[in-house]
Amino acid sequence: MFKLMELPFKEDALEPYISAETISYHYGKHHKGYVDKANELIAGTEFQDLTLEEVIEETYNHPDQQTLYNNAGQVYNHNIYWESIGVGGRLNDDVKKKIESDLGGMEALKKELIDKAATFFGSGWVWLAENKDGKLEVLTTKNGDTPLVLGFTPIFNMDVWEHAYYLDYQNRKKDYAEVFVSQLLKL
Ligand code: MN
Repeated sequence: MFKLMELPFKEDALEPYISAETISYHYGKHHKGYVDKANELIAGTEFQDLTLEEVIEETYNHPDQQTLYNNAGQVYNHNIYWESIGVGGRLNDDVKKKIESDLGGMEALKKELIDKAATFFGSGWVWLAENKDGKLEVLTTKNGDTPLVLGFTPIFNMDVWEHAYYLDYQNRKKDYAEVFVSQLLKL
């Protein structure tokens, strides 16, 4: 069984950038909903004793397990999202060096994150992740997809589903992305 992770901050801690109302729905309804649905789907199946990551790997590219794959992926992605807020201080020296060498530095990284979020079509995620060769990349995934199944190790992400920002920013996705990168990631 999967557990809804504890939110690492109070629901109103991100105001005025993200409202308590958004967090209340995003964490308490959307994230919790993915956990509940994934648990319902694994109960009594061969998946029930696997880790979240194992369930994602095992259901990837299995059309008959698409609903479980999507919900497990969304649990995993949201776990990383809440931990991503304030991540700057937790980036280790190796990652900081690679941001310089692989991505052209912190300002270039921020710009790429904002550009990729602002132009992303549909529901999905923007990630900083390390590829199979140990290089950092900014990439996007759609819906509940995660870089895990593509051989990446995620470092942090930004949720660009409308439910992440619509109550506060409506159609201004770029404004949300700018605030997320400049105020919440604290890179
Ligand atoms: Mn979300």
